[in-house]
Amino acid sequence: MPAELVVEVAARVRETARIMATSQHTDELIHWAEESKVQGPVSPDLPPWRVLIVDDDQDVHQATEFALKHQLIQGRALHFLNAHSAAEAQHLLRQEPDIAVVLLDVVMESEHAGLELVRTIREELGLEAVRIVLRTGQPGYAPEMEAIRDYDINDYKTKTELTRNRLYSVLTTAIRSYRQIQALNSQRAGLSQLAESSNRLLQQDTLEAFFQQTVTEAASLFASPLQAALCARASPPVNGEPPRLLAATPGLLAATDGSFSTLPGNVREPLQACLSQRSHQQKTDTLALYVRGPESAPLGLLVQAEQALTRDQLNLLHLFAAQVATCFENLTLLKRLRRSAFTDPLLDIPNRSSLIVSINEKARQDGLEGWVLALLDIDQFAVVNHVLGYRTGDQLLHAVARRLQQQFPAPALVARLGSDTFGLLGPKEHISLPTLQRCFRNAFNVNEQAHRLSASFGLVRLDGVAGQGEEALRSAHIALKRVQERDRGQGLYYHETMASEIRSRVSLVEELRKAMADNRLCLTYQPQLSLISGRPIGVEALIRWPGEHGDPIPPSVFIPLAEKAGLIIELGEWVLREACHAQRELAAAGHGDLRMGVNVSVKQFEHPDFIAMLDRVLSDTGIDPAHLELEITESVAALDPERLTQLLTNLKARGLSLAIDDFGTGFSSLSYLHRLPIDRLKVDRSFIQQLGQDGDRGEIARVVISLGKTLQLVLIAEGVERANQAEFLRELGCDEVQGFYFARPMKRAHLQHWLQEHPLGVSH
Ligand code: C2E
Ligand code: CA
Ligand code: CA
Repeated sequence: MPAELVVEVAARVRETARIMATSQHTDELIHWAEESKVQGPVSPDLPPWRVLIVDDDQDVHQATEFALKHQLIQGRALHFLNAHSAAEAQHLLRQEPDIAVVLLDVVMESEHAGLELVRTIREELGLEAVRIVLRTGQPGYAPEMEAIRDYDINDYKTKTELTRNRLYSVLTTAIRSYRQIQALNSQRAGLSQLAESSNRLLQQDTLEAFFQQTVTEAASLFASPLQAALCARASPPVNGEPPRLLAATPGLLAATDGSFSTLPGNVREPLQACLSQRSHQQKTDTLALYVRGPESAPLGLLVQAEQALTRDQLNLLHLFAAQVATCFENLTLLKRLRRSAFTDPLLDIPNRSSLIVSINEKARQDGLEGWVLALLDIDQFAVVNHVLGYRTGDQLLHAVARRLQQQFPAPALVARLGSDTFGLLGPKEHISLPTLQRCFRNAFNVNEQAHRLSASFGLVRLDGVAGQGEEALRSAHIALKRVQERDRGQGLYYHETMASEIRSRVSLVEELRKAMADNRLCLTYQPQLSLISGRPIGVEALIRWPGEHGDPIPPSVFIPLAEKAGLIIELGEWVLREACHAQRELAAAGHGDLRMGVNVSVKQFEHPDFIAMLDRVLSDTGIDPAHLELEITESVAALDPERLTQLLTNLKARGLSLAIDDFGTGFSSLSYLHRLPIDRLKVDRSFIQQLGQDGDRGEIARVVISLGKTLQLVLIAEGVERANQAEFLRELGCDEVQGFYFARPMKRAHLQHWLQEHPLGVSH
């Protein structure tokens, strides 16, 4: 700046200061007084506005302070800070917080020092809220309009313009705008703080942690921390019962023995009022928030500040309370969801997902060395359900779960995986085949009735299992299935060969599919004879698969596979059709009165198309249904009793007869069988085998046969291999026999031949 100008500016500034300092015009005074009136009440608690005067002329400092001394803006006093250069101002601005307004001289160390400072304030120091009023000695030094806009400058005035009055109003406008910006900023900060706090609240796993976090969040909502306490009314409310203190900030908590009644009165009373009146209670420095909890469990949240709470703070606290309510509700919902996702609803014990998670967690935390996973499946439970009813079935499951939990307490885990399947996880010292079997030694009591149950077990040693809960479960399943196929009531540990066997079974299914397509399956027929007349009275059709490479594959191997693969439907229809054709052929050859027994798998039986299929075959082959007998096993009892009765009645209506195959091995409920339209019981081979051996007097066979007699059914014994067995059976009153002793299963042509040769049966 040229020297003359400097002199001139300095002179003008002094003049301005003088005018401002001495301005005593009446109109100005009136105006002044009016402005003061609208300031509202003085808030002695609130800090003064901080105003920074930046000017290289000391007179301007003095003049400004003098002019504004004792003035209040929005009820708050003014406090001045002074800087005599842009550099000093910058230093101050870095140190001092909450400066509301900078009254800034444009020209100082340099022509642009003021504007440079503005840029620094906005860009470098990032101070957005502070308001800036530029003052210049003369209009010639007006900054560009862009600068005013770009740097968010509130006002630009020449010093001469700034009379005391004008200065006051300029400052008031600036402070109002500063306050608005501050409020917006704090609201914005408050809202993002709320969002973050809600995140943290929802992460709490337990209610206790949630309560504690609520208090922590409330206390740290503002720069100056609050005291906070959270309590709940006794639910349901009991007269005279004080609310429960759930959590409090350390300062408050220290004053109590942890109970609500020992809270200081100025905390306790608003909380009590808030809970009983179900509304927020507000005092200058204290706010008791009513938080509507889920399932009518209200909370009272009290916050207490050191100073009066501002309107913004109150607003934010109200928002916070609403948010706590939402989080509380969400948390209980989440917990319930989490619970239902991991709990079996009937037995209220962990479910399959929970078991898998536990296996994985245990593997991650301290490894599964020496641990075992066991699957337990109750034998014939579907039948139990049908015979005893679902209610008793459910109660039995409860009883089983209880016993398992008693026998295998923590660290073991008992879970329910499916209807009657349980999973157990624990150290091998606890969970082993003998300890599991011991659980089923004693009967289970339901409604003062003892029910004996047996179960099959599949176990897997978890050593080396790397957190693959699913995989472990699959292995245990394989072992369990193996037990169920071979000897129910027992248990097996999983071994890798089982998996490879499964793979080979898969390829066997493929081969079966091919054999069916290539028509390589055939039927054999085994004669059945009357024990009274000795004559052949029927045959049983038995399927044969010669096998592609050598040995035939027994039906006990491929029928279960066909059932699982769904092939049994097609295969079963083929067997029925083939057997009916054979019956027609026998009739044509003069053996028309022979009954044709056909095995029907449960899978076929429960297929919705079964009756239609049967009708189709009957009409296609034109046989007399009176010469057809369907053999079904006791496992059909697992079907819905009403549906089963209807199905059997439908079948009977066609004139065919029905036999229960393998009688005595399944779950035989006399009363149940009695209600079904059955013609014949086929006493299982296992009862006959013993007969006449090692001094066996046929006690068991006798019981089984007399059981059938009580039901007034015809009895046929399977698997008769020796003459003395046949003799015994005759004595026991058995009606019919079938077995290698009389005849082996044979091809159609061979059967014709055999029948020719044995018109009167096999003498013995
Ligand atoms: P099952 O219905 O109990 O058939 C009787 C089984 O006992 C037949 O075995 C038969 O060969 C065998 N057997 C007959 N007399 C004696 C004897 O004196 N001693 C011994 N040790 N065994 C005897 P197979 O043919 O191997 O059939 C086994 C099972 O396969 C059958 O048991 C039946 O459950 C099933 N099966 C056979 N053919 C069919 C079929 O066409 N459809 C269905 N669904 N299952 C079939
Ligand atoms: Ca049979
Ligand atoms: Ca049988």
